[in-house]
Amino acid sequence: MQETSSEKHHAARREAMVRDQLVARGIRDDLVLDAMRKVPRERFVPEMERDFAYTDGPLPIGAGQTISQPYIVALMTEALQLKGGERVLEIGTGSGYAAAVLAEIAAEVFTIERVSELADRAADTLGDQGYVNAHVRHGDGTLGWAESAPYDAIVVTAGGPKVPESLKQQLTVGGRLVMPVGTNPLFQSLVQVVRSSDDQFDTTDLGAVRFVALVGKEGWQESDADL
Ligand code: SAH
Repeated sequence: MQETSSEKHHAARREAMVRDQLVARGIRDDLVLDAMRKVPRERFVPEMERDFAYTDGPLPIGAGQTISQPYIVALMTEALQLKGGERVLEIGTGSGYAAAVLAEIAAEVFTIERVSELADRAADTLGDQGYVNAHVRHGDGTLGWAESAPYDAIVVTAGGPKVPESLKQQLTVGGRLVMPVGTNPLFQSLVQVVRSSDDQFDTTDLGAVRFVALVGKEGWQESDADL
C-alpha cells in the first residue's frame, strides 16, 4: 500500500519523538523504543488533536481523561521489564495507545476501562489497527481481571491511594507491577512492585508523576475531594 503524505508526516514526527523525548531522556530498552516507533499515536487521539499527536505531553481524549505523555508510556513500559511473550494486564485503557505499545511486545494484553464510551472507542481503534492480542473490558480495574490471571506484568495508568490487593494477588511470582500511588488523588509517585515470593513484594520509587485518579472499589471514591 502506498503511504499518503500525511502518513509520512506522522512517521517522521514519530521518529523524532522517539529520539528527542525518549532516547534523549534515557529510555534504553529496544523493545520499548521499537514498539513506540511502530504504534501510530495519531490514530489513538481525537481527530482534532491529530496534529499534536507527537507533542511532549498528555492530550485530552474525552470524558475528562487523557492519553499519557509519550515519555511516561515509555518509562512505565520499560519498568515492566518485558522480554516478549508475556501476559500483561493494564488498568485504565483510555485511548488504547499504551495497550497497543504493550501488544507490540507482549503475547496477550488484557486492559480494563471504567468509562464505557472510552472502552468502546479503544476496542474499535485497537481492532482497526490489527491488535488482535489486545482484549478490552469495561469495568472497575482495581479488582483486576481474575479469569485471565496470573499476569507477568501489570500496569495501572491512573493514580490510586495504594496498590490494590486484588492486583498484587493476580501477579505471577517474579512479576512486575507499575503504578502511580499518592495520598492526593492528583499527585503521585510512580512505584514499581516486584513480587519476589508468594507473600513478598519489593517496592521501588521511580519518581513524581501526575495522573488522573483511579476511581474504584480499591481506588479513590467518586466523592473524594478534587475529582
Ligand atoms: N493508558 C491510557 C491513559 C489513560 S488515562 C492511554 O494510553 O491512553 C487513565 C484512564 O484510567 C482513564 O481513561 C480513566 O477513565 C481510567 N480509570 C480510572 N479508574 C479506573 C478503574 N478503576 N478501572 C479502569 N479504568 C479506570
